[in-house]
Amino acid sequence: MSYTDEIYNRVVEQNPGEPEFHQAVKEVLDSLKVVIDANEEKYRKLGVLERIVEPERIISFRVPWVDDNGQVQVNKGYRVQFNSAIGPYKGGLRLHPSVNQGILKFLGFEQIFKNSLTGLPIGGGKGGSNFDPKGKSDREVMAFCQSFMTELSKYIGADQDVPAGDIGVGAREIGYLYGQYKRLTGLYEGVLTGKGLSYGGSLIRTQATGYGLVYILKEMLEHNNQSLEGKTVVVSGSGNVAIYATEKAQQLGAKVVALSDSNGFVYDENGINLDVVKEIKEVRRGRIKEYVEKVPTAKYTEGKGIFKIKCDIALPCATQNELDLEDAKALKANGCFAVAEGANMPSTREATDFFLANDMLFMPGKAANAGGVATSALEMSQNSMRLSWTSEEVDEKLKGIMKGIFAKVDAASKKYNLEGNYVAGANIAGFEKVVDAMLAQGIC
Ligand code: NDP
Repeated sequence: MSYTDEIYNRVVEQNPGEPEFHQAVKEVLDSLKVVIDANEEKYRKLGVLERIVEPERIISFRVPWVDDNGQVQVNKGYRVQFNSAIGPYKGGLRLHPSVNQGILKFLGFEQIFKNSLTGLPIGGGKGGSNFDPKGKSDREVMAFCQSFMTELSKYIGADQDVPAGDIGVGAREIGYLYGQYKRLTGLYEGVLTGKGLSYGGSLIRTQATGYGLVYILKEMLEHNNQSLEGKTVVVSGSGNVAIYATEKAQQLGAKVVALSDSNGFVYDENGINLDVVKEIKEVRRGRIKEYVEKVPTAKYTEGKGIFKIKCDIALPCATQNELDLEDAKALKANGCFAVAEGANMPSTREATDFFLANDMLFMPGKAANAGGVATSALEMSQNSMRLSWTSEEVDEKLKGIMKGIFAKVDAASKKYNLEGNYVAGANIAGFEKVVDAMLAQGIC
């Protein structure tokens, strides 16, 4: 049995009940076969794969808080500190009822390679809780965040582990978390990113994941003699990533016709009015179906099905495994030729394989959504220097980073005769730098 297969079997056996983690590991190991096989003896002796699939540390804790009725509630809190070979752990905090240790391990594992691709000195981590901020009052969210940080603060720091936002964690939550960290430690340091502009945040961080997604999409299209101008785009989700991917795609001349949330999706053949969406989602924290109240010509459909809409380009920006094989086939049948992932692992393995087998342009999340963490690293730099860059400066750096990621991914795919397979390219390019650093640092 090959070393990569052996390690995959070991991961499944030793991490039961964590299917998303198995899925993420399998995709990476399958891509790495060409690299590992050439030097199998060396990698095996050094236990490289055993080490890279095992988190350096997982912290798991109780989060008690009091709701508005005076009732004590208890949630589970986690931080997965996966790999610090190239820098302090960096990765978001997710607040969603679906969060468990396996989901955070998959996200933390992906984060190692994503962060490596940015070219910036950041290791991989992820955290969160099964707390559901939906429907909670501001006071309840604050109570939860303060309790969560009371425990988490023991394990993070500006040079140690720097969390950020993810699903369910935006500016409000980062503010409450930061305030509590400061009270507990007395330190005013860049321990979190995604902070408000008045207390150390970076311009463009809010937009960075969505903008970065469209910048790398543009690179991929141009590299393949295509352009974004005039293309019809479907974007799933309607949170931070989806909103700013839509904004940048529109600015670059595309027409975004659909957005969704976990209840259903809206289709607006005239092109989504983003001001209406921002008012619903960023101001009122409402549901996407409210869009049709403001734009009566648009249509709302309850449930799944957004990827059945005819489009040229699809940008899944909601959550893991939201796009399955049936969706992939429908996209292809309707003329879609490019998919770039704003979310983490939104396509199932079967869907990904279908895109690749059918010569569709496909950019995986760990490359496509790396603009968020890259800009978080730029926020860390600004905090360390006690300086703030302008929007133009940050945006230029973000563009350069996304261009650089595309170049690395493309070069790695070509190096191993897998031209156009950006999944393999991203996994290999991300891995090479991390493994180089791990080997240089000895057995640790
Ligand atoms: P938000 O919480 O801002 O938005 C998430 C969106 O996805 C919402 O519209 C939400 O709908 C929808 N969604 C969440 N869970 C589900 C589900 N189970 N089924 C259907 N829809 C769902 O999160 P972000 O925009 O920040 O994150 C979206 C994705 O992008 C995630 O995969 C995240 O890991 C990834 N990502 C985010 C980065 C960032 O900087 N924020 C960076 C890199 C990746 P509803 O409101 O109904 O729950």
